[in-house]
Amino acid sequence: MAFLVVLGAGESGVGTAILGKKEGYQVFVSDKGEIQEKYKEVLEHFEIEWESGKHSEDRILEADVVMKSPGIPDKVPLVKRLVAKGVPVISEMEFASQFSDAQVIGITGSNGKTTTTMLTYHLLKHGNLDVGVAGNIGDSYAKMVAESQHKYLVLEISSFQLDGIVDFKPHIAMITNITPDHLDRYENKFENYVASKFRIAMNQDENDYLIYDADDPVIQEGLVKHPVQSKLVPFSLKEKQKEGAWLENNNIKVNIEHKTLEMSTDILALEGQHNVKNAMAASLAALLVNVRKEAIRQSIQTFQGVPHRLEKVLKINHVEYINDSKATNVNATYYALEGIKKPIVWIAGGVDKGNDYSELMPFVREKVKAIICLGMDNSKLKDAFGNVIGLMVETYSMQEAVKVAYKIAERGDSVLLSPACASFDLFENYEDRGDQFKAEIKRL
Ligand code: ADP
Repeated sequence: MAFLVVLGAGESGVGTAILGKKEGYQVFVSDKGEIQEKYKEVLEHFEIEWESGKHSEDRILEADVVMKSPGIPDKVPLVKRLVAKGVPVISEMEFASQFSDAQVIGITGSNGKTTTTMLTYHLLKHGNLDVGVAGNIGDSYAKMVAESQHKYLVLEISSFQLDGIVDFKPHIAMITNITPDHLDRYENKFENYVASKFRIAMNQDENDYLIYDADDPVIQEGLVKHPVQSKLVPFSLKEKQKEGAWLENNNIKVNIEHKTLEMSTDILALEGQHNVKNAMAASLAALLVNVRKEAIRQSIQTFQGVPHRLEKVLKINHVEYINDSKATNVNATYYALEGIKKPIVWIAGGVDKGNDYSELMPFVREKVKAIICLGMDNSKLKDAFGNVIGLMVETYSMQEAVKVAYKIAERGDSVLLSPACASFDLFENYEDRGDQFKAEIKRL
């Protein structure tokens, strides 16, 4: 019996363990931290051996194959030892793909993964295809493969998950965009992070497709450096494409393998230029798997987006409150500030990941009337915008931030939480930050 060791007992680790057990492996799950109660229960239920709070190295080094959870960096000594011994250390994507015949639509990128994944799933589902959604979102891919078979699977894939693939090959791959993020895991080298994203296409052949943002110079450069075999399917807001998707007089036009589709951007339920791109990417994938045009047009109008991504919360005294807590980097906030047409009271800040705020400056000058800093250390925000914004207030809790925003905002304004920073100085995670924002608004 082959021996599978799973390092890390989060969503993907536990999913892999369940699948491994089902496929006849001897499975051992090891987590150096504390395993959450809900996962312990699942492991017990499936009679899978586990340990918490330590790694029993001797045992782990006996493995035939190791699945490393995406949160564990390659430079951890135990991982180095495994690699030195010649034990394959793979990701959940790699492990799960061996046991599934589903056609995979794999979506990666720095921003827009979740939105595009959910939108693609929505289009396929409403096109009456047998489709599941998994990955970085909800259920893990491995758990999905263990528990149900679908003809199509839409997967959200992070760069960390791509780092651990060997043969994994999506039929349709998507790179939504590439901007600097998580560089600490890539020796602070942007090119390493870009290379990691392009791994999504490395096993594709000429019968597969790569959908990507043609307006993104980093992707264009990446295509030269990392040649791909699959059919290139670009989308662009700026230029007409021979095959792909583009914008013409406010209309999205799609042309791919003799299939065409045209729809006005006005019908999108989601706002913002970035969501036009996400809609183009998802529509291209839907057409490629033969969803009918009419079904795409109809369901694109009903997709309401995902919580914490430019989520409209409430209108109070003609002031709109918008939760974009998932904007944990400057590029995501860029699209929030670009998309909102009204004067903005902007709540920003948190853990800065080496942000360069200069690209936000035009929007800040044009429409931000006040900045409410919400972080332990707000010095970078103050340095960047202190001279251009008349009103900057520092706050240290969501309750305080929302109260101040409520006082400052006037009829016709928007209050936007779009931090451009990670959340863990004052919050558990971005969901906690967004949930607290919504709760405080409801208390006003
Ligand atoms: P991810 O899963 O890659 O983090 P999300 O869909 O969760 O992406 O969105 C994260 C943030 O990025 C949100 O603030 C969202 O409004 C913004 N966003 C969504 N799509 C795009 C895009 N195509 N380009 C830039 N920002 C985007």
